[in-house]
Amino acid sequence: MTIHIQQFDNSLFKGSVSVNTNLFIDGEFVDPLERHNVEVTDPTTGKVITTIAAGGKKDIDRAVEAAQKASRTTWGKNVSGAHRSHLLFKLAELMEQHCDELAALEALDSGKHYIYVKAIDFASAIGNLKYYAGWADKLSGKTIETEPDKFVYTIREPIGVVGAITPWNFPMTIACWKLAPALATGNCVVLKPSEVTPLGMLKFAELIREAGFPPGVVNIVPGLGSVAGQALVEHPGVGKIAFTGSTLTGRKIMQSSGNSNLKRVGLELGGKSPNIIFDDADIEQAVKWTALGLFHHAGQICAAGTKIYIQEGVYDKVMEQLVAAAKASANPGTGFDLTPQLDPVVSQTQLDRVLGYISSGKDQGAKVAVGGGRLGKEGYFIEPTLFTDVKPDMKIVKEEIFGPVGVVIKFKTEEEVLQAANDSTYGLSACIYTKDLDRVARFTSALESGSVHVNMASMSDRRAPTGGFKQSGFGKDQGEYALEDYTNIKAVTINHGQRL
Ligand code: NAD
Repeated sequence: MTIHIQQFDNSLFKGSVSVNTNLFIDGEFVDPLERHNVEVTDPTTGKVITTIAAGGKKDIDRAVEAAQKASRTTWGKNVSGAHRSHLLFKLAELMEQHCDELAALEALDSGKHYIYVKAIDFASAIGNLKYYAGWADKLSGKTIETEPDKFVYTIREPIGVVGAITPWNFPMTIACWKLAPALATGNCVVLKPSEVTPLGMLKFAELIREAGFPPGVVNIVPGLGSVAGQALVEHPGVGKIAFTGSTLTGRKIMQSSGNSNLKRVGLELGGKSPNIIFDDADIEQAVKWTALGLFHHAGQICAAGTKIYIQEGVYDKVMEQLVAAAKASANPGTGFDLTPQLDPVVSQTQLDRVLGYISSGKDQGAKVAVGGGRLGKEGYFIEPTLFTDVKPDMKIVKEEIFGPVGVVIKFKTEEEVLQAANDSTYGLSACIYTKDLDRVARFTSALESGSVHVNMASMSDRRAPTGGFKQSGFGKDQGEYALEDYTNIKAVTINHGQRL
């Protein structure tokens, strides 16, 4: 299938990209065993781009079998860490070479701007491939003294087959956050990308083959969550599920993953993150970071700082600047405009969902400070929106909206804001803006979240762990900590003296 990317004057990408829209199983693109299709839509227009094959239960069975076979023969304990490292570096190199085409596909089906896909998303994806390529030949265990005539050493072993299930907001980035550590540690993978944004990963499958990974080591099976996702979660041949997505789906995965075998599960889930601006902050910087954290990719970021707490001394000044920033961002555009504009939300479902939250805020008595509606009639654009006069029990304060919508709350004291910030079922991320180092120490300790950012918006780094507390999930992506999540530790006891 050849996909023609928008052709207009000054488009950042002109031309076409060929994509195989079948399932990638055992090193080949194959038809699904039972024909099901999914339409892929351009969120900037609402028009269908193409139709792809959707995997069913039998396709997941095929993919897991291929992965199990590779794990026993051509991968897993049969290859050295140095070889795994070499292939991962090669894959990163190929991704760099094909960056333009991959970014065009990702910009097209996600609505994210082409420049950001390359500069932010792919920098992270490629960075993770190289980072874990570096780890692949450096995995080690420990030697542990036990008795005078015995010692124990530990070995890190691959789990076997990892089922990776990923969302639509950072399709290739999050896929690489899971593929890279899984492959570096010797696992085989069956990846089910989001059915909403599968195009980039289908192109990526070609690179997996070109890099030289043996057939079956990586299988990419797009499909519906309730069909292909569910089948992967319930498959007895899968040793671990690595999931990123909503808390609702995470809860279902937790329940059904134990039905067939006791799988390990890693869950990177939703958030409702506090963004706290103190009186002593550098206000101009705090506003810029806050607006970036809230409106980048139309707020479709799990760690977005959507609960904005402003200390009373700077409240009016910050609000004035934040409202101006929201208005300046209300500029819809395509993913291929010369300069990045406001992204759309990804689908009609998301559009309805976010507009539903905006209506609920209005109905429950919150005041719209800026925005509050849809932008234009074509595509899924929503005005950057800020609510004030909110109450802690309102839906817009408690629940993840996943759109360009923030709630603003004035506060007086540290105690008050800390209590409010932690009053959440989520615990993914938090941001604070202050110059007071003692306060930084108090808040970084007391905030109940997997990450805290000081004087910047939430941004992850491949060298540092990403993951949440509470109902934002458990397990870590990125950094050295993720190696734990993709390996089994075996303890070997050596007796060099005791006789019975
Ligand atoms: P989602 O939960 O709807 O879907 C995520 C993936 O799960 C998709 O591939 C989907 O097909 C699949 N799925 C759906 N139902 C399933 C089921 N019953 N069994 C197995 N798989 C199933 O999430 P989304 O709408 O794609 O993504 C947005 C969500 O992801 C937000 O809540 C966001 O906060 C979260 N997210 C979290 C992080 C993080 O690092 N914590 C990062 C990005 C996104």
